[in-house]
Amino acid sequence: MLLRDRVAVVTGAGAGIGRAIAQALSERGARVAVVDIDEARARETARLLAGTGGQALALEADTSRSGDVDRAVTAACEALGPLEIMVNNAGVLDGYWSVDEMDEALWRRVVEINLTGVFLGCKRALREMLPRGRGRIINMASAAGLGGTGGGAAYVAAKHGVVGLTRQMAVAYSGRGITVNAICPGVVLTEFRAHSREILGPGTPDMSGRGIAVSDEQVRAITPAGRRGTAEEVAAAACFLASDGAAYITGHALAVDGGWRAR
Ligand code: NAD
Repeated sequence: MLLRDRVAVVTGAGAGIGRAIAQALSERGARVAVVDIDEARARETARLLAGTGGQALALEADTSRSGDVDRAVTAACEALGPLEIMVNNAGVLDGYWSVDEMDEALWRRVVEINLTGVFLGCKRALREMLPRGRGRIINMASAAGLGGTGGGAAYVAAKHGVVGLTRQMAVAYSGRGITVNAICPGVVLTEFRAHSREILGPGTPDMSGRGIAVSDEQVRAITPAGRRGTAEEVAAAACFLASDGAAYITGHALAVDGGWRAR
């Protein structure tokens, strides 16, 4: 129970990697606020956590809206206690469009969720953490935040932005007791494409067959480990960064990608 009674907020925790992080933090003793734009998914994650003896709270919020983020973090602190761990994980895929084919509205929405949403989560978390002089912020970037593949123009640019934001914040806040790190997963099997289409709304192009890591053969070709990662493997990295053992690690962009970016 390495994280006993620590209070965590995990955004995008209604599914996939965020749900696995919420579960892993809870298994290690943390009290977890499960935030998602889809309330039913958030409730299901909270139910799973409660089912294994954890204390959890489901909260509906669109992380690209500052008012939603503020309400969610306020509710989490009131119900669970002072915020120690903020995981800014919510994100959407952009359909792999390059600049000439991407329309401006899609660009804006993807950047708003994947980059501005992380900024808003960090800013709100700092309001809780700075006065107490302690905290862990973990931002979900991607292998697409370390190179020019793994998404389209908006996704790759936003994820590079998350890595840059993380580094700037590490410099600014590590002397004040707060570590700030990013995780850069490679290919992980989730419902990311379907959820992204649903959140981006009508008119969003079908993304099912697009990208460089759709088939098993493509995954093997780019990933030295020869397979997709699991959400649990990403969650293990998040738990480590949240733990006392990672107190001197800050400003790091941790690839959890089976060696993809080591090539
Ligand atoms: P997922 O779709 O399974 O889960 C994402 C969750 O975030 C969903 O429940 C969705 O409803 C929620 N969400 C999306 N936009 C939101 C918003 N504005 N406000 C609140 N909640 C919102 O996807 P996933 O694969 O688990 O992705 C999680 C994160 O991991 C994303 O940031 C993604 O970019 C990143 N990532 C995923 C992969 C992968 O291969 N799956 C690889 C690298 C990085």
